[in-house]
Amino acid sequence: MALIVMKFGGTSVGAAERIRESAAIVRNYAEQHQIVVVVSALAGITDIILKAVHAAKSGAQVETEACLADLEARHLEAIGKLLSSPSKEEIAAEVGTLHKQLRDFCSALMMLRSATPQVLDVALPMGEQISARIFAAYLKQIGAHGEFIDSGRVLVTDDKFGNASPDMVATRQRSREVLWPLLKQGAIPVVTGYNGASKSGLPTTLGRGGSDYSATILGAALGSGEVWIWTDVDGVLTADPRTCHKAKTLAEITFAEAIELAYYGAKVIHPKAIRPAMELGIPVWIKNSFRPEVAGTKIVAHVAGNYSPVKAITAVKQAALVGLTTQRDVHFAEIFGRLFLRLGHDQTDVLFSTQSSSENSLGLVLREADTEHVIQIIQHVFRTELKHHVLAPPSVQRDIATIVVLGESMRGQWGVLARLFSAVARLNVSVIAVAQGATELNICFAVPSARADEVVRAVHQEFFEHQHQESIEAAVTA
Ligand code: ADP
Ligand code: ASP
Ligand code: MG
Repeated sequence: MALIVMKFGGTSVGAAERIRESAAIVRNYAEQHQIVVVVSALAGITDIILKAVHAAKSGAQVETEACLADLEARHLEAIGKLLSSPSKEEIAAEVGTLHKQLRDFCSALMMLRSATPQVLDVALPMGEQISARIFAAYLKQIGAHGEFIDSGRVLVTDDKFGNASPDMVATRQRSREVLWPLLKQGAIPVVTGYNGASKSGLPTTLGRGGSDYSATILGAALGSGEVWIWTDVDGVLTADPRTCHKAKTLAEITFAEAIELAYYGAKVIHPKAIRPAMELGIPVWIKNSFRPEVAGTKIVAHVAGNYSPVKAITAVKQAALVGLTTQRDVHFAEIFGRLFLRLGHDQTDVLFSTQSSSENSLGLVLREADTEHVIQIIQHVFRTELKHHVLAPPSVQRDIATIVVLGESMRGQWGVLARLFSAVARLNVSVIAVAQGATELNICFAVPSARADEVVRAVHQEFFEHQHQESIEAAVTA
């Protein structure tokens, strides 16, 4: 029997009815396959925990209490609607203990008024600790052998709290020790997504949205045949459906395309989740738990279909452009090299960069959240150059968006840039910066944030909503 790791995101376990449907999916597939389930917290729960923790840290007792009460009510409602006695009482008691731990945690923060990422990693995965218990108990109730597993027992990470990375060797060993015996007995391990533990056993998290990453890490560690990510859309779409109603589901995309899409903001998959699967060539499917009959999108090394050069369009809407210009005859590659080294050391991502030799200038397009930090780095690293006017003070342009057009088949194609920027020009939008990746996998450009959605829709129309495009897709799906 082939092993499949199935991850259910927040909306797929959002409330009793959603858990019921997702568990039914698992039970059906378990007849033919070995299944390891990875679950997120109920939709919105991690945000509520974070809100409670921040409120507690700032001493806002009423707000903290409101968050905790909301969270407890959501969980108790799901338990009440899903489970019958005696499992209902058992799980309610276990979940009650976790609620109490979260309350104690918030009380401690009210006194301490601070929390390091290490401390936060104790509280943030509590949503998963609860949802996985409920999911496993419900599976048992419908005749499938669900077994709750805390991922802290199997997923070993480094100690970069809040954004940990797996130690694959240790994780392979632990997950095989803990999960294989269960699978051999016909059980369905229900593993908490998002969390792990450092080698010394301290709780860690994999970054927001990290349950996708948990699933591919476990898929790789167990050598699973496939990883299925169940979510609330039919698969990977040609654009974010919230921005572009005409976005279409892609039957297949490559690992490289999925990495680009995720890096540039397509929330449907976590940016780090593809690599563990890609390294072992494990196909990853994105599927809709609301419509399990739809095939979804298969993410693989190579795609078979004959697709248009542009596969998808995505956007990072909160970005800023930081400009640096040398004012004297200096070797600016050496100067800017120091900056990139430092950014690498800090693990700060640059969305894209542009460099012009004649003006000796460098443009860095950054996530808005990273901008202040990067300016501080510039002021520190180049304090001497700035003081002696070798460098002009950094310029900052805020409220911009990075739009990314991507597709492996763009490589070697002519005319894509012309069509792209003609579509943008028809909107009278001025392009602030542009870069085409040397691999020709993506074209990144910056526009004013306020125009980002319009630009995405116009570019989508240009590449996906023309008659000839539809005929290509019809041929592919035929
Ligand atoms: P989950 O809770 O299941 O992890 P997420 O909310 O993290 O789900 O991701 C799914 C969402 O990703 C979709 O509802 C959709 O709005 C968004 N999304 C953004 N870009 C894309 C895209 N190109 N294709 C599909 N979904 C996308
Ligand atoms: N619950 C976590 C979050 O909201 C992880 C996840 O859902 O993937 O970030
Ligand atoms: Mg997600």
